Amino acid sequence: MKTFIEPQKKLKVRAEVDVLVVGGGPAGIMAAEAAAKDKNLHVMLLESRGFLGGNLTIGLPILAFLNKNGNQIIKGAPQKFVDRLAARGCATGHKRCKLHMSLTMVDPDMVKTVAWEIMDEQGVEVLLYVFVSDAIVENGEVKGVIIESKAGREVILAKTIIDCTGDADVAYRAGVECTMGDSEGRMQPPSLMFSMRGVDLQQVRDNVVNHYDEYTMDIMPAEQFKTGNFTMVGMRKQLADAISKGYNITVSRTIFMTGIKDDELWVNMTRECGTDGTDPVSYTHAEHECRKQMYDVAKYLKEYIPGFEKAWIENVPPFTGIRETRVIKGKHVFTKEELLDGARFDDAIAVASYPIDLHHEVGGDCTLIYGKDSYDLPYGVLVPEKVENLLVAGRSSSMTHDAMAATRVMSTVMALGEAAGCAARIALEDNVKPSQVDVKKVQAALLENGAYLR
Ligand SMILES: Cc1cc2nc3c(=O)[nH]c(=O)nc-3n(C[C@H](O)[C@H](O)[C@H](O)COP(=O)(O)OP(=O)(O)OC[C@H]3O[C@@H](n4cnc5c(N)ncnc54)[C@H](O)[C@@H]3O)c2cc1C
Repeated sequence: MKTFIEPQKKLKVRAEVDVLVVGGGPAGIMAAEAAAKDKNLHVMLLESRGFLGGNLTIGLPILAFLNKNGNQIIKGAPQKFVDRLAARGCATGHKRCKLHMSLTMVDPDMVKTVAWEIMDEQGVEVLLYVFVSDAIVENGEVKGVIIESKAGREVILAKTIIDCTGDADVAYRAGVECTMGDSEGRMQPPSLMFSMRGVDLQQVRDNVVNHYDEYTMDIMPAEQFKTGNFTMVGMRKQLADAISKGYNITVSRTIFMTGIKDDELWVNMTRECGTDGTDPVSYTHAEHECRKQMYDVAKYLKEYIPGFEKAWIENVPPFTGIRETRVIKGKHVFTKEELLDGARFDDAIAVASYPIDLHHEVGGDCTLIYGKDSYDLPYGVLVPEKVENLLVAGRSSSMTHDAMAATRVMSTVMALGEAAGCAARIALEDNVKPSQVDVKKVQAALLENGAYLR
């Protein structure tokens, strides 16, 4: 491999802050908000794209605010975020779902606006269009990051960093041990979401309810589709027929879900197996392939599913969504067994309920494994095993491959983000490292903000 030795260069320090949150997705928004509470600290949020929200802006419902028994187990800041959207008619309530615990639809664009509003209120300094490319580490402690932007390469120094990049970019560059995928390094595939408008939603509902045997649904009973939000997952026979006729479709289940508008459905049916979201060549290939698949998926829906005849593709998010890349090795690695057992921990900082939902690394299917109604996530999943002054919240928190297939859903990552923000703030107030923070104080702060802990 050809290499190039980069000459040494003096970099400008753009800012010195108390808490630096990298990545403005669902976890990062919650982390920045919680860290900045009461405006005592200088908190900065860095985001490489031109908007906040991450995968919360690509047309996905937030899954699992409720557990299997219908009890709400994600509250606190995530619920307040949804309340703000709902006050504008831009989020639904939490509808129970046999397959997904619960569904909460949100308007992807209003997510960006509400996230800004919260950052403004909390005095968080937001910097968009900056990509964090490296970490500055001294004696095992993270001191800052290198950012790249139109302004060139610069430095931001911070007392504590919360990595919410989804890919553990900061942690990985700082030397934290990370894993990717299953024992063979295979990861869940990415998908490009898209919405269709002009759908006759009533006809779609009636069709499934009245011809349930023909339009078989995974697990979900016909009643679930009569009113309110739904995600339809099934219709395998119809899809197999289209694929046999040469449609470029790589999934084996039809999946679409209601949005906020009456004639809108969001479609989750593209996929490119074998993608590595941390490799630009691989990710570029996935973007290209998923975009090509999108048109055949839309054609299939229009031809096979009554109610779609007059529909058109309305909204295509600006990026293909990545389900899985790096996860860190933390003080606690949360496992499938703990999840299925409904594990409880004294240092719980979030309670979650979503089952293992593993989109197959090869092929077009998905496996769901259900455990007890809820499980705790301990503080150690946020704390890297070795490097100090760093917390990692979101889909790259410390989990096994199977467990992260559950904890990656947005209600859970939001709760993890809130916990990380609280912990960073309390650690600085108490003048201790985040790894040494008094978790009882973190729990008290979370409860004070309305979070649920068992
Ligand atoms: C196709 C698909 C379908 C899914 N379906 C659902 C669903 O129905 N319901 C559900 O609840 N969950 C679903 N998920 C899972 C969920 O969307 C993600 O796991 C979750 O959004 C992860 O949140 P996060 O904040 O950790 O990361 P992200 O949402 O990915 O946010 C990370 C943010 O960090 C920024 N960033 C990354 N690297 C850098 C860097 N180096 N410098 C600066 N900024 C950076 C990114 O631009 C992004 O804004 C789905 C995921 C995918 C891909």
